[in-house]
Amino acid sequence: MKHKKLFIPGPVEVSEDILDEMGHFMVGHRSKEYSELHGEVVSKLKKLLFTENEVYLGTHSSTGWMEAAIRNCGHKRILACVNGAFSKRWFQLAAPNKVEADKYEVEWGKGHDPKEIDKLLSTGKYDCFLVVHNETSTGVMNKLEEISDVLKKYPDVIFCVDSVSSMTGVKIEVDKLGLDVCLAGVQKAFALPPGLAVAAVSKKALEKSAKAENKGYYFDFVEFQKYQEKNQTPSTPAISHIFALNKQLDKFFAEGLDNRFSRHQEMADYIRNWAKKNFALFPEPGYESVTLTCINNTKGISVADLNKKLAEKDMTLSNGYGDLKEKTFRIAHMGDLTMKDMKELITAVDEILGL
Ligand SMILES: *Cc1c(COP(=O)(O)O)cnc(C)c1O
Repeated sequence: MKHKKLFIPGPVEVSEDILDEMGHFMVGHRSKEYSELHGEVVSKLKKLLFTENEVYLGTHSSTGWMEAAIRNCGHKRILACVNGAFSKRWFQLAAPNKVEADKYEVEWGKGHDPKEIDKLLSTGKYDCFLVVHNETSTGVMNKLEEISDVLKKYPDVIFCVDSVSSMTGVKIEVDKLGLDVCLAGVQKAFALPPGLAVAAVSKKALEKSAKAENKGYYFDFVEFQKYQEKNQTPSTPAISHIFALNKQLDKFFAEGLDNRFSRHQEMADYIRNWAKKNFALFPEPGYESVTLTCINNTKGISVADLNKKLAEKDMTLSNGYGDLKEKTFRIAHMGDLTMKDMKELITAVDEILGL
């Protein structure tokens, strides 16, 4: 198989030293060695997320924690914000888990209005609130701070955030924002292979979980907490991933978190400027994502053909998601990618399209 550099919003390009670290020799998951590794990884994740909350390591993709948030924290009725494919899926996960839910939906490409959220929560109907920070299907980044200001008025509502494609690319201060569940998979901005997902879970969410009636076992926060106290997980974790995550977190701190966040911003600015010059941005102004850019295909190019030609140059970008296929296309600028990669991609695209 030929190695194509990935400019898609997950899975993303993984550095060779991280791939190598996945080949670390095994240790038993109830051994002292594992507990040391687990403890180190968790304390680094807490530092990354500016939180005192526990961060659990789950062996599954992000969707697992999305389902977990519903099962552990949605007892009465959920309010789910929908503005794209992933937020729609989160809303839809309520029904098979037998939890009542309503959606607050805005047009794809638009961000959520905190005033509207306030109005809906003020009905007192809801005990759990779901929002996707960065809608990967539309390239919209919601305004977490403004939403958090609203949620602070409703301390009985559990505040759950999917930051799957934004975590590590932008600063997310879990404690300051008051997030009760903040989740992500590692195949996006973490730049690891898929298969592991992390969730920062507050005491409030844990107390709620303790009273949940239909939470099953695999995703039970209380079980995770019980084992976390021994620096372990309830069942065998993806140990290879955890070795690689440990190394990747060290690399984040060696780069410096602020440098990491500004590298993402710089790549976003570069791609947005290129997109505005040649096409148009899909998201409503002010809501453009920092980790991927969703471009309105105003020139009516064939995105599929563009990708075929890019493949000859060992690169690939992403077509639009679902109904937005060919109408939009997406360039991810997250993880380990740098300005050099961005320039390489844009040079190739310009050449192919004759721009
Ligand atoms: C990719 C993605 C998901 C789904 O993640 P999986 O790891 O495939 O379960 C959920 N939400 C967002 C915002 C995503 O980008």
